[in-house]
Amino acid sequence: MDVAVVTVGDELLSGETENTNATWLCRRLTERGTRVRRVTTLPDDEAAIARVVNEFHAEYDATVVTGGLGPTHDDRTMAGVAAAFGRELAHSQVAEDWLVEHGGYAADDLADGTTAVPANARVLHNDPGVAPGAVVESTYVLPGVPTEMQAMFERVADEFEGERQHVETVFAAEPESELVGRFERVQTEFDVTVGSYPGDGVRIRVSATDAEEVAAAAAWLRERVDEGDEGARRDE
Ligand code: ATP
Ligand code: MG
Repeated sequence: MDVAVVTVGDELLSGETENTNATWLCRRLTERGTRVRRVTTLPDDEAAIARVVNEFHAEYDATVVTGGLGPTHDDRTMAGVAAAFGRELAHSQVAEDWLVEHGGYAADDLADGTTAVPANARVLHNDPGVAPGAVVESTYVLPGVPTEMQAMFERVADEFEGERQHVETVFAAEPESELVGRFERVQTEFDVTVGSYPGDGVRIRVSATDAEEVAAAAAWLRERVDEGDEGARRDE
C-alpha cells in the first residue's frame, strides 16, 4: 500500500512549528508496512490543498492530511479536501451527536462549522479535542494538534497495512564513496534495498520483506566492510 502524507499550516512553512506530525505519521505508517511515497507541506490555502489532494488521490492508495480543522477562519484543511472531491462542506449529525454524548457539549454551544465535514464523508471522532476528522474515499483528514492527530490516527491505523519490512544495520568505518561497488554487488546478489547514511562512518541500512534475505545480505556486507570498533566490540 502506497501512502502520501500532506501536512497543512503556514506555521510549518515559516519554521515556527517543527513538523513533528510528518515524522510521526511516516514512522507509524512504515511500522504498519505501508510505503510512504510523498510528504508535502502546504500553506493554509484551500486551492493549494485541493490541487494536491486531488493529485495524490489519483496516484496513491491512500492520503493522510493533517492541519487546522474546525471553524477558525484560517483552518482551510477540510474545505480544501472537500473541494478536491467536488463536495460541499456539510453539517454532520453523527459528529454532533458524538460531541453531545462524549464531549459533554450542548448542541447549541458548538461554534458554527464545528461539525462541518465533506458531504457523505465518514466522520472520525476526536477523543482529546473537538473538531472531527473525516475520511473521503481514501483520503483521511486529521487535526493539526499532535495529540489529537495521533489519537485519531490510531482509530484508523488498522486500515493502513502492507507487508512489513525487515531491517538490519551494518556499520562501516570507511568513506561512503569507497563503498559504492559493494552496495551494487550486495543488491545484485540479494533481493534487498540498501540505504547508506554517512555521519561518523557510514550506517548501511539493509531492508526487504524477507528476514532471511536481509540477514544474509547483512552478513555478506559485514564480511566485506571495515567495521572499525563496532566489529571489534561484536567479536569480543
Ligand atoms: P486550533 O483550533 O488550536 O487552531 P487546529 O485544529 O486548527 O487547532 P492547527 O491550527 O493546524 O490545528 O494547529 C494547532 C497546533 O498544532 C498549533 O500549535 C500548530 O502549530 C500545531 N501543529 C499543526 N500542524 C503540526 C505539525 N505538522 N506538526 C507539529 N505541530 C503541528
Ligand atoms: Mg488553527
